[in-house]
Amino acid sequence: MKNIYSLSYAEALQFADERGFKPTQVTNIFRDIYKSDARSFDEMKSTKSELVNELRQEYYFHLPEIITITKTPDTVKYLFSLEDGCMVETVLMKQEYGNSVCISTQCGCNMGCAFCCSGRLKKQRDLTPGEMTGQIIALKDNTGEKISNITIMGIGEPFDNFDAVGVFLDIATNDNALEVGSSHITLSTCGIVPRIYDLADMPYTIGLAISLHAPNDELRSRLMPVNKKYPIADVIKAAKYYSEKKNRKVLIEYVMLKGVNDSAENAEELSRLLKGGRFSVNIIPYNPSSEDKFLRSEGQTIRAFYDILKKNGTAVTMRREFGSNVGAACGQLRSDRLKK
Ligand code: SF4
Repeated sequence: MKNIYSLSYAEALQFADERGFKPTQVTNIFRDIYKSDARSFDEMKSTKSELVNELRQEYYFHLPEIITITKTPDTVKYLFSLEDGCMVETVLMKQEYGNSVCISTQCGCNMGCAFCCSGRLKKQRDLTPGEMTGQIIALKDNTGEKISNITIMGIGEPFDNFDAVGVFLDIATNDNALEVGSSHITLSTCGIVPRIYDLADMPYTIGLAISLHAPNDELRSRLMPVNKKYPIADVIKAAKYYSEKKNRKVLIEYVMLKGVNDSAENAEELSRLLKGGRFSVNIIPYNPSSEDKFLRSEGQTIRAFYDILKKNGTAVTMRREFGSNVGAACGQLRSDRLKK
């Protein structure tokens, strides 16, 4: 048995075809679930009852269960429990251009970035496509809010769960399902190079964000073990391929760690590294957790870093902070809960 929220359109077409149903019935399945908000087979009113009965044999409805909700004026952060008790975080961010949801793709993460709460907890397992879709549906059900943007930037490395993320993208972008345009979806990776090329060759023109956090291999390998396998030059080359293929800028995420990666020299080096590519750096003030060995860079250091990038002609923005003032920055809710 499989969660119905993992069902892609292509899979549903095959399912219906094998049982003698027309493709229009597949549209009805998706409209019942995603447009009319059916939460059980009994509530699927547009789909032929014979097809609904076929679905019952192989699928079930299940949404993540809300454990806690933490609110700030512009965010709502959910700690969800999945079917087996694994916990993930999902965040609703209210932006000027609409509501954005940040979803998790794994329960924990094996990439081991030194500054990340999720990385310290290790991966328990990959999420299914239905558990990614389910985070959005459960959040929509709870808030009644319309979702216009999705960021795949929560707990986990999406490229370490590539196939499931691919199915999720199918459901997210389908007009009869979540109906979020490719250009309104952003995926963030720590730099798993082969998967950057794979994503570039898929039909989605989603935004790509690379968690870089250091301008040279020596420093980056200390902060992000993945760099030993995929060094910076390879990551930048793949990112350039992606931006050319999709005709869009690639976002470079750079978290500011006091005395570690925030010097003027680091800023100059970063500008040199990104020269000639279509990149935009997103400077992120760090959110330290209680037992953290890293500190947030001083405000004036962050400003100076920003100014150097600007002066060098490197596109740069500063991320608005979401959630840190309630101790609920990325990965923290889940790690706090697990400690208890
Ligand atoms: S920063 Fe991302 S890739 Fe690195 S450990 Fe955390 S969740 Fe994993």
